[in-house]
Amino acid sequence: MGFPNSPEQHPPHAILFAYPTLGHVIPSVHLAIKLASCGFVITFVNTHSIHHHTSRAASDSSHPKDDIFAAVRDSGLDIRYTTVSDGLPVGFDHSLHHEQFMQSMLHVFSAHVEELVAKLVKQSVPPVTCLIADTFFVWPSMIAKKFGLLYVSFWTEPALVFSLYYHMNLLRKNGHFACQDARDDSIDYIPGVEAIHPKDMMSYLQEKDTSTVCHQIIFNAFKEVRGADFVLCNTVQELEPHTISALQAHVPFFAVGPIFPLGFTKSTVPTSLWSESDCTQWLDSKPRASVLYISFGSTVHVAKRDLLEIANGLLLTHVNFLWVLRPDVVSSEDQHPLPIGFEEAIHGRGMIIPWCSQIEVLTHSAIGGFLTHCGWNSILESIWSEVPLLCFPLLTDQFTNRKLVVDDWKIGINLGNACGLVKKEEVSQNVNRLMDEKMGAEFKSAVRDMKKTLRHALMTNGSSKKNMECFVRDLKTKVSTSHARSTSNGHSVIDSTLKQASWNLFFS
Ligand code: UDP
Repeated sequence: MGFPNSPEQHPPHAILFAYPTLGHVIPSVHLAIKLASCGFVITFVNTHSIHHHTSRAASDSSHPKDDIFAAVRDSGLDIRYTTVSDGLPVGFDHSLHHEQFMQSMLHVFSAHVEELVAKLVKQSVPPVTCLIADTFFVWPSMIAKKFGLLYVSFWTEPALVFSLYYHMNLLRKNGHFACQDARDDSIDYIPGVEAIHPKDMMSYLQEKDTSTVCHQIIFNAFKEVRGADFVLCNTVQELEPHTISALQAHVPFFAVGPIFPLGFTKSTVPTSLWSESDCTQWLDSKPRASVLYISFGSTVHVAKRDLLEIANGLLLTHVNFLWVLRPDVVSSEDQHPLPIGFEEAIHGRGMIIPWCSQIEVLTHSAIGGFLTHCGWNSILESIWSEVPLLCFPLLTDQFTNRKLVVDDWKIGINLGNACGLVKKEEVSQNVNRLMDEKMGAEFKSAVRDMKKTLRHALMTNGSSKKNMECFVRDLKTKVSTSHARSTSNGHSVIDSTLKQASWNLFFS
């Protein structure tokens, strides 16, 4: 491919680092495609581990194994693909040894990233101009500065969650976080955020011990994001208008979601970590809106006790269900956690699978509800499919997402009514409530309205479409002004950074 000689005429070239868990990789892939459609050249980076698992899961399909973007490139988009070590062996069980994986993210990963960025900056045509990285990384601002790149932070969760993390200092100052006897009254001082109860904050902000590796990652990541030139968020302006405008007073924050393609068709880029079961025939055999889809996402674990209560609660109902039970959903050391005899007892009305194409399942007319852990992608996908939600949050942002779904938007209900442990009787009661044609009608109608909001946001003149255009324009302006600044000094920022790096090496 030929590129003009003058750097200002080059298309922006971004290196995009996806955070190595599926709930972050999937929206990052969509972002890469969206930006490439806006004229960017993208070099997409997965970890060796994510690459290994996705290419293994895709091995029985028609997807090319080594270059997950090959089909997208055939359609004319310039997305290149490479991989980087996360500091651990490829066969390492991240699910079983999560703490070590996080330690590696905190202490080791940046060295591998830096090496790769140095190589790409040196070799790439057109020249690399920016670094797009998940907000949870602890190094983007530092590395972007080192190589003279603009830093675009990608936030894959709601703006509300970003805002609570961004204002951790206020929470601390007011005694709602990181103190022995944290207050448990409402928090009403976060700019743009309506009063929120501490139990609705992300799990990490509710914990007493803030010395964990996850806390260190969050603290560092939210220091880094203050150095971002832009923040892109997978939300919609109309869903969180006040939170977003308050954030815009501090950072150039762009709501560009939902980031998945308007057609909501299955991506040609393989992202599954496990091979997908095809449930179409089984779903075809079920009446319209009669099946409850159940999934707890790609990463979190469910306590065995809760899983058994859910299974026994389902037995008390007559509802059809399709349940995704990842092999490690309780632990990779307990791959068959269901009660003995469960599969025989649900014969005909229940199907258990290890993984599926969630968007294909959710859009099937037989699906009438979604029992979810409240991962943000799952929520957006469910809204898009007009499927109301039954909420069972387990970790991290899922508690805050639940509040949005149940308390603010009223597009779903809680699985458990009491705080804490879930009981089989309430499982059966709430499953029946959501799936009942009459009782569930208000949630169906609310989710239908919300889908319209999401759809409008992506249309011409819609908020997300305009925000994306605005971001691209502002970024191009910033690229050309920083280029002009660096060349007026007689040398490019990148040149001087590389020079600095070689001096450092020389003296080390
Ligand atoms: N997903 C899928 N198949 C499944 C379960 C989940 O393709 O059987 C996808 C789902 O469509 C979503 C992602 O995995 O895009 C899960 O992201 P989410 O934010 O909901 O949860 P996380 O995995 O991050 O906890």
